[in-house]
Amino acid sequence: MDCIFCQIAAGALPADRVYEDDDTLAFPDLRPRAPQHLLVIPKRHVESLASTQDDDWAAVAACLRTVQRVARDRGLEEGGYRVVANIGSDGGQTVNHLHWHVLGGRLMTWPPG
Ligand code: AMP
Ligand code: ZN
Repeated sequence: MDCIFCQIAAGALPADRVYEDDDTLAFPDLRPRAPQHLLVIPKRHVESLASTQDDDWAAVAACLRTVQRVARDRGLEEGGYRVVANIGSDGGQTVNHLHWHVLGGRLMTWPPG
C-alpha cells in the first residue's frame, strides 16, 4: 500500500483522527494553510473526483457530510469556511487519494492561486 492516505486510514501512519465513521476520516493537514485546516477522505481508495465511479458516490456524499460535521464541531459555521478539492496536476493535487481541504479561522481570498 503506497498511498499515504490509505496508510493513515488503516492506522499505519499517525494522524489525529478528529472524526471518523465507517466510510470517512478527518485529520489535520500536516502543513496547515489556515488557523484551522483539516482533510476529509474516504477510507476506501479513490484517486480523485476525475476517476470517481458509480459505486464511489455514496462515499463522496459521506465525505461532504463529514466536512459539514467537522466544520460545525470546530465552530466554523458562523464565520464561514472554505472547502477545496484539488484535482490532478493543474488542480494542484499532490496526494492521489480523493480528499477535501476544510479551511477556516481567517478571511479567505478569491481567486485562489
Ligand atoms: P493536495 O495538495 O490537495 O493533494 O493536498 C494534500 C495535502 O496533504 C497537503 O496539504 C499536505 O500538506 C497534506 N499531507 C501530506 N501528507 C500528510 C500527512 N502524513 N498527514 C497530514 N497531511 C498530509
Ligand atoms: Zn489511498
